[in-house]
Amino acid sequence: MQTNRRDFLKGMSAGVLCLSLTSLGFDLTEAKAYAKELKTKNCRAVTSVCPFCAVCCQIIAYERDGKLIATEGDPDFPVNEGSLCAKGASLWSMYTNKHRPTKPMYRAPYSDKWVEKDWDWTLNRIATLVKEARDKDLILKNEKGQTVNRLESVFWMGTSHASNEECAIINQAMKSLGVVSIDHQARV
Ligand code: SF4
Repeated sequence: MQTNRRDFLKGMSAGVLCLSLTSLGFDLTEAKAYAKELKTKNCRAVTSVCPFCAVCCQIIAYERDGKLIATEGDPDFPVNEGSLCAKGASLWSMYTNKHRPTKPMYRAPYSDKWVEKDWDWTLNRIATLVKEARDKDLILKNEKGQTVNRLESVFWMGTSHASNEECAIINQAMKSLGVVSIDHQARV
């Protein structure tokens, strides 16, 4: 049997159409629903808030046996109505990623190695360096003789993991030290 170009294209179109209908058909929808049911089956659903920015989208976290199984946007929450941006959508993988550091990591000046430290050591180190910088660099008066109490050698970069209230306290703490360069990661 001879097949001309027109018949060949018609056959191809029909094949693609069948494939598309199968791919988008009801059977596949059922399979997806079944797979979703399996993933969160016997899970405890807990509502929480995405920690990454001040929009505060609500999420549903599914927990089973103390493990986070899945997270998704909460469709009943008026702010995000179930949707999440790329950061919020990656919440589960951020939490469960085996590369996520869970302890402070320190790299000494001129070293090429990171070493694990405990929180006491880390907080003492930060406090010592901030005090040294403030003692050395605090500007009490400007060139006109006006009191400014300004510390320009310290920069504070906030985190979207901080709540509004935490951000307010951090802001006040930094300003009480004289820090004037303050920014927030969620704005970047
Ligand atoms: S980072 Fe994205 S998902 Fe999270 S609160 Fe902000 S907008 Fe919502």
